[in-house]
Amino acid sequence: MSKPKLTLLGAPGAGKGTQSSNLVEEYDIDHITTGDALRNNKDMETEYGTPREYMEAGELVPDPVVDEIVEAALADADGFVLDGYPRNLSQAEHLESITDLDAVVYFEVSEDELLTRLTGRRVCDNCGTNYHVEYNPPEEEGICDECGSDLIQRDDDTEETAKERLRVFEENTMPVVEYFEDTDSFVTVDGEQAPDEVWADLCDAVEAQF
Ligand code: ADP
Ligand code: ADP
Ligand code: ZN
Repeated sequence: MSKPKLTLLGAPGAGKGTQSSNLVEEYDIDHITTGDALRNNKDMETEYGTPREYMEAGELVPDPVVDEIVEAALADADGFVLDGYPRNLSQAEHLESITDLDAVVYFEVSEDELLTRLTGRRVCDNCGTNYHVEYNPPEEEGICDECGSDLIQRDDDTEETAKERLRVFEENTMPVVEYFEDTDSFVTVDGEQAPDEVWADLCDAVEAQF
């Protein structure tokens, strides 16, 4: 049987990374995250400059750079969950030209909650596991439960850059939500709930679509 092909839409901090981990475990699919791919290649020279310049400012990295990352990852994937792509209409059109999605899931979360989640987010420098200082703290402050490495705050999770990223989401990615809204594959999940409640709704949504 073929595996699900999914994309998660939602503002920065909506819980895409957190829920992607659950999907990967449940369905044994690839996690394709443009954010992590770009963070691992921040100083890659492209004709548009390096990803770092855009990421540190909270702006979108130019489409050709991200489109290429996604295209290469999709070519190797059986089922997948896309996390952080597409982020504008041009990326959405590109994605539709290279694959058929089973579900487009939109996590709805209020702006106040997003800012609290982003500024409190901590990430393991080694294995990438996500934490939150208040909502999901590690057993020992600043140390990853999974691998014992140090937790760091992302450069772009400061209040100022987080606000800019939320603005960029409204301007560029909300049109993508509206674009998919009228299609059969579209589902909205209340992302403001506790993580296990979001996961229960997400599971139901994927099962219904797949
Ligand atoms: P978050 O999950 O908090 O929204 P990501 O890790 O997905 O953050 O993205 C971090 C940064 O990487 C973005 O602010 C942007 O600069 C860049 N980026 C990630 N995905 C894309 C994309 N699809 N298009 C353009 N830029 C992207
Ligand atoms: P995204 O990938 O969409 O940017 P993350 O999954 O990284 O979002 O989550 C952002 C922050 O919020 C992390 O610190 C994470 O631990 C926390 N978080 C994720 N889901 C929830 C939730 N349902 N309730 C409270 N905090 C959450
Ligand atoms: Zn770790």
